Amino acid sequence: MHIVRGRAPEDRPTKKRTKTFTGEAWADPLMPQTADGDTISSVTFTPGSRTYWHSHTGGQILIVTAGLGWICAEGSQPEVIRAGDIVWTPPGERHWHGGTRTTIMTHVGISIGPTNWLEEVEDEDYQAPPSAHAT
Ligand code: MN
Repeated sequence: MHIVRGRAPEDRPTKKRTKTFTGEAWADPLMPQTADGDTISSVTFTPGSRTYWHSHTGGQILIVTAGLGWICAEGSQPEVIRAGDIVWTPPGERHWHGGTRTTIMTHVGISIGPTNWLEEVEDEDYQAPPSAHAT
C-alpha cells in the first residue's frame, strides 16, 4: 500500500500537455505513475483544446469536475459531458475528449495501463453533437 498525500505545490508540477493534445490543456498529476502505467490526473481543457485520438490499454474512468466538454468514441457522434458526469471507456476503444469550442472542461482521468496515442483530431471531427441543445 502506498498513500499519496494531497496536492503538494512543488513536487508534482502542473504540466502543459503538448505532443498529443491540440490547443492548450493542463494536467495536474494526482498520483505518480505506477509500475503498470496507471495514472490519475486532473486535466483542464481550455476552449477548443482536446486530446488526440487514443486508447487505454486497461480502460479509463473520467470524472468531470468542472465545465462542459465533448467526448467521442470512434464510429459514434460526439457527446456532451458536464460536471458530475462519469465516463467509462473500455480497454482499446479509440476516442478523444476535450473542451467545447467555447467552454473549458476539467476532468479527473483514471487511466489503467499505458495510453496508446494516435493521430490528431481534425477540425471536421471536432464538433458539437447533433443533439447538443437537448442534452
Ligand atoms: Mn481517454
